[in-house]
Amino acid sequence: MRKRGWGLTTATVLLLSTVTFSFPIAANAELPAAADELSLVRVQLPTEAMFDELLASGADIAARPRMDDGRLLVDLVLTGSQLDALTARGAKTVQVIQRAGDAQARFAESQRSSQRATAADTLHFLSANWWSSEGRTFLQTLVATTAIADPDVEITVTWTAANGATGSFPLQRFVDAGEYQYHVADPQVLPAQPTKVTASSSLGGVSRVVTPTAWPGATPPPLPVGYQKDFIDAYMTPTDIKARIARLGRQYPNLVEVVDLPHKTQGYRRTATAYLGDPANAAVVVESKQFGDQGPNGWQVKTVNPGKPNQPAQATWRDRVLTVSLATDHTGAVISTTDQIAALISARFPQRFSAFVEDGSAGKAMPVAGPTTMDDGLDGSVSRKPWTVQALRIGAHRDGSRIGVLAYSQEHAREWGTPLVTLEFAERLLANYSTDAATRQLLESVEVFVIPTVNPDGANYSFNDASFQRKNLVNHCTGAQRDPRNADSWGVDVNRNYTVGSVFDGYVGASITNCLSGTYAGTAELSEAESNNVIALAKAHDNIKFAMNVHSYGGYFMWPPGAYAMPGRVTLPRPSAEEAAMFQASAKRIVGAISASRGTVTWPSRTGPVADVLYSAAGNSADQLYYELGIFAWDFEIGNDRWNPQTSQWEGVGFQPPFAEAHAESQEYAEGLVELLRVARDYDRQGR
Ligand SMILES: [Zn+2]
Repeated sequence: MRKRGWGLTTATVLLLSTVTFSFPIAANAELPAAADELSLVRVQLPTEAMFDELLASGADIAARPRMDDGRLLVDLVLTGSQLDALTARGAKTVQVIQRAGDAQARFAESQRSSQRATAADTLHFLSANWWSSEGRTFLQTLVATTAIADPDVEITVTWTAANGATGSFPLQRFVDAGEYQYHVADPQVLPAQPTKVTASSSLGGVSRVVTPTAWPGATPPPLPVGYQKDFIDAYMTPTDIKARIARLGRQYPNLVEVVDLPHKTQGYRRTATAYLGDPANAAVVVESKQFGDQGPNGWQVKTVNPGKPNQPAQATWRDRVLTVSLATDHTGAVISTTDQIAALISARFPQRFSAFVEDGSAGKAMPVAGPTTMDDGLDGSVSRKPWTVQALRIGAHRDGSRIGVLAYSQEHAREWGTPLVTLEFAERLLANYSTDAATRQLLESVEVFVIPTVNPDGANYSFNDASFQRKNLVNHCTGAQRDPRNADSWGVDVNRNYTVGSVFDGYVGASITNCLSGTYAGTAELSEAESNNVIALAKAHDNIKFAMNVHSYGGYFMWPPGAYAMPGRVTLPRPSAEEAAMFQASAKRIVGAISASRGTVTWPSRTGPVADVLYSAAGNSADQLYYELGIFAWDFEIGNDRWNPQTSQWEGVGFQPPFAEAHAESQEYAEGLVELLRVARDYDRQGR
């Protein structure tokens, strides 16, 4: 350490010691460097003339000269000998900022600190909400870490409650389509309202302290004395729904009209089939061209041995019996194969039958079999006719002059609770119009459209044949996938058959190729009557500005975007900030209204854009209404998980819960739909 006395100020000494501390390899205190080594040095010059001289001589002046406390300071890149020469003429070294040899060490140091920065994360709360339900207090938090690529980072939330209690719980990493979204946990039971939460990660990151906010923080107006409700006393089949619609039309002719939607469905009907042979061994499936109810139910099919040598295979049709005489060789032995017989039937009676080899029977010897009776496999005693889907048009002024709200349900057949919601909603409006001023005022200012069951054929199948039927009843399968063993997997997912963000356009969350998939999207966009009906109603009434697509289950409240494309998880366009705020604010009001019924609170983690809180659903109807028709379009998933205090678990309720649960869902979500009318009315008042 030489030249301690070179006029170094206290501040400079501090700076040097700081630098030395941060960069222990740097040897700035060793002043100056070797005679021929370059350094960057802050020098105090005795005169301005000396600076002018340096400038004129082409010195490497690294920063503009400046006056500091009467001293002329300049940063110079120079060698030790050049510095010595200046020093001999009265210049003073104030600071050796950097020597040429420092650079490598500083680069290496930066690499090490960069690794530390990647390893340590920062956390922030996307949301922190609390609420009370059925005497308990719940807390839910969503936290994001900056360590998005680390699959092992663990995040813990620590809370403090108003009664002084504290606790903590872990979050789970939520990844969708390979992309980190956030960390979240199901709502936690707390002893009292939380006053603050913090999050910490296994990488050492911590969040700021956050005060959780009350969720949803909105309460609907109280129901007036004498308000009529509870019009639901059982699950309702499409036939029941049709009767209810007719009754409402008769009972309230001044407030409602029944609208027949233009696209009749296929109807609760299927072609008739029979196994010719034993499907466990060798068989051909014979299928009628017509639907079973159009005649083929009861037809018989059989194969026979002609009992003579050298016979060709031949098929005859007489008295509703298809008889196939098998081919024989010169010994009289039967030589027909399954493939040959299937081809023969299809070729011989192309208007009446198609036949194909049962999966696993290809190339096998065709047995003598039958007679077997053909049947459409449907157990219900309901009408086989094409179905006219109906809507209720409700309002004091049903002329398009008022802002329109559309509520539609049961796109998915098995979601039995959903038409209960829309019918309860409709009848509340009608029944209370004459006695409740608030209802009357709503129906003066809003026009309401309700489609209780979009998918009646599938619903009939769900009630009569296979309760988990989700899709409609149209079978687009070909070949062996038409084997009747697949009967419960046929059909089109109505809520994947729309045109916006569809699988046909490359969006995720539906199948084109597998007709047996639960999310099979159909043969093309809008290939199905059911989806066309929803669009037809919305297009015919351009006053419709709000829509609710009612599904079950899980307790979600969602809005666009509802689909994304891969790679890159590219969602449909995000709503503008203004519209996103509108979706969110309205959602809080409606969630608040739902909770007023029995305390059911839709979780913050299940309130948001479909693509963010649930999954990508290519070609769904809410996206269609929003992006194509400019309608604020939401989706309910009714049937919120219920907290079981005995097991301390959230329990799912399912598509067809015990009726008491379904009934409660119909009441609470009808409240939500009434709030949607208030949202529409307020939106209209504020000016569209
Ligand atoms: Zn659904």
